[in-house]
Amino acid sequence: MLTAAFGDLPVPPQKAGLYLHIPFCSAICPYCDFSVLTGGPRERAHFVGLLLWEMCLWEGLPWHFDTIYLGGGTPSALSPAQLGALLEASEQHFAVGESARIFLEANPEDVDRRSLTAWRRLGVRTLSLGVQTFEASGLEFLGRRHSTQQAVRALEEALAAGFDTVSVDLIYGLPGQDEASWRRDLERAVALAPQHISCYQLTVHSGTAFGFRKERGKFQELDSRSQGTLFRLTHEFLRDAGYPGYEVSNFAVSPGHRSRHNQKYWNHVPYLGLGPSAHSFGADRRWWNHRKIGPWRQQLQAGERPIESSETLSPEDHALEALMLGLRTASGVDLRRIEERWGRPLLAANKDLIDLLCEEGLLHLEGSVLVPTLEGWAVADGLAARFEI
Ligand code: SF4
Repeated sequence: MLTAAFGDLPVPPQKAGLYLHIPFCSAICPYCDFSVLTGGPRERAHFVGLLLWEMCLWEGLPWHFDTIYLGGGTPSALSPAQLGALLEASEQHFAVGESARIFLEANPEDVDRRSLTAWRRLGVRTLSLGVQTFEASGLEFLGRRHSTQQAVRALEEALAAGFDTVSVDLIYGLPGQDEASWRRDLERAVALAPQHISCYQLTVHSGTAFGFRKERGKFQELDSRSQGTLFRLTHEFLRDAGYPGYEVSNFAVSPGHRSRHNQKYWNHVPYLGLGPSAHSFGADRRWWNHRKIGPWRQQLQAGERPIESSETLSPEDHALEALMLGLRTASGVDLRRIEERWGRPLLAANKDLIDLLCEEGLLHLEGSVLVPTLEGWAVADGLAARFEI
């Protein structure tokens, strides 16, 4: 049985991350591909009870955690008391270190002085605000429920509230977006001086409202050349403003403000995800929960962990993932380390390709570490696929 297969997870050498997926949103944004739903106070209370039960089912997992990430969805849609119950239960059921860093995603419309004070009291140290854009037309296009003024006020108040790190999420590459408009967004974000900024390219997923519009020929995506221009503008502008990129979409004023939790995903450090659609990784296994809340709830009510499926990663899978994820980071990927850890001699097997990619200005080879250039970052996902594993 699947659940039984996870009874023997060894203690990893690194500290793990705990992710709790809170799926509620007041409305569903037309580009959103996450596991989300609207739902009133009763559904939310019921959900919290089930998530607490899911934690009980993992009691005894011999991992030590140093991050707890409340993501979604919109975790700020839960009351501070509900969030507090989840955090308390995390510490009760798992070995969470005293200095664990707690992350909370919030939407600007949920931010006010009271909520900020409550989140600080809960121990939240990194607050991530889903601003997406400061342009009124962009907010309307993206179906967001906050105004430009609300976004600015939320950010100012969050910064004044004393979190270690306040992060702003932005989206670029909207249809018809030009450099001037995206530059205005970056300027406004930087002027408010958060410690961390994430910038994501708009992606149109099938099954979303934008996806349906695209299928009907009613969604004109920005062409790839313009996307590339905006990508370069993002990195150059933020670097010059004191926010060097440490990952393809993430920028921080200093290493201490980088996302300790997200770096676990990129560095093959174990993480446990609870809640619908949440993914987990540990030892050589990856597993994921039911995406839809119905099957997730039914399996929990039957007394089982709500895992939909799992896979065991081969040394080749590990090596390819390490290469793909490493090429998305500023520090790059150490090919000798991959060989030591998973026995795949990437450096020797890809010598000609590496020479070519260096000549093309996409990579540098520093000892055994492959480091992407800005041009390489722009095509990072395609680069790894060219390697022989
Ligand atoms: S607020 Fe975020 S998680 Fe919720 S629907 Fe919009 S994009 Fe999705």
